[in-house]
Amino acid sequence: MRSWGGRAMNHLSQSVLVLNRLWQAVNVCSARRAFILLYTGQACVVEGVGDSYQTFNFGQWCQTPLGRCSAETLSTVSLKIRIPKVIQVLFYDRFPKKEVKFTRQNVYERDRYTCQYCGELFESRHLNLDHVVPRDRGGVMQWENIVSSCLPCNSRKGNRTPPEAGMKLLHHPKRPRWRPSLHLTYHKISECSWRDFLDINAWNVEVGSE
Ligand SMILES: [Zn+2]
Repeated sequence: MRSWGGRAMNHLSQSVLVLNRLWQAVNVCSARRAFILLYTGQACVVEGVGDSYQTFNFGQWCQTPLGRCSAETLSTVSLKIRIPKVIQVLFYDRFPKKEVKFTRQNVYERDRYTCQYCGELFESRHLNLDHVVPRDRGGVMQWENIVSSCLPCNSRKGNRTPPEAGMKLLHHPKRPRWRPSLHLTYHKISECSWRDFLDINAWNVEVGSE
C-alpha cells in the first residue's frame, strides 16, 4: 500500500461504515482500514449517485471528483483521494461475528420493552431483569435465564420459578442473533450517508446464518 503523508494521518482515523454483501451495516472501521480493504480489492466504496447507490473499486474511486472539504480528501505525493463514508466488503467472512453484549438495555431490546409475564409495554425505568430460575436455585445471569419484567410481575413472582408462581413466560428467553446497532450511539450517527443503511437495520441486523 502507498504510504500516506503525515497530515493525512488524522484523516485516516475517520470512521467508515462497513456493509456486507447484503447491504447490511455490519461494522464501523477507520478510514485507514477502509483504504486497505479497498486497495486490496476486498471492498468497494458505496456512494449515492442521484437517487441510487453505486459501488466503486479503488481505481474507479480514484477517478471520482474530489469533495470540496479538505477533511474529506487524503493527499499523497502522487494521489488525492476522497475518504469514503461507506464501504461494502466483498468477502464478509473476513469480519468475525460479534455477539450481542449481555447488558440490561440489550435484554430490554430483545424483549422489545415488554414484560415477559404480563405482556405490557414499558419504559426501561419501569422494567426489571428477572431471573426465570431464581438465583438461589442456581439460576444464572445469562440470556437464557433473564427476562424483562415489570415491577409488579417481578414482585408477584418473587423467588419462585414461573410454574411455581402460576405465571407463564411470553417467550422462552434466548440469546439474540442481531447485533444492536453495531454499538453505535445515535449521536455518532451524524453522518447522513450512513442513515439509509442504519435506519433500516438498526437493532435488526442479523449476521450470518440463522
Ligand atoms: Zn408485568
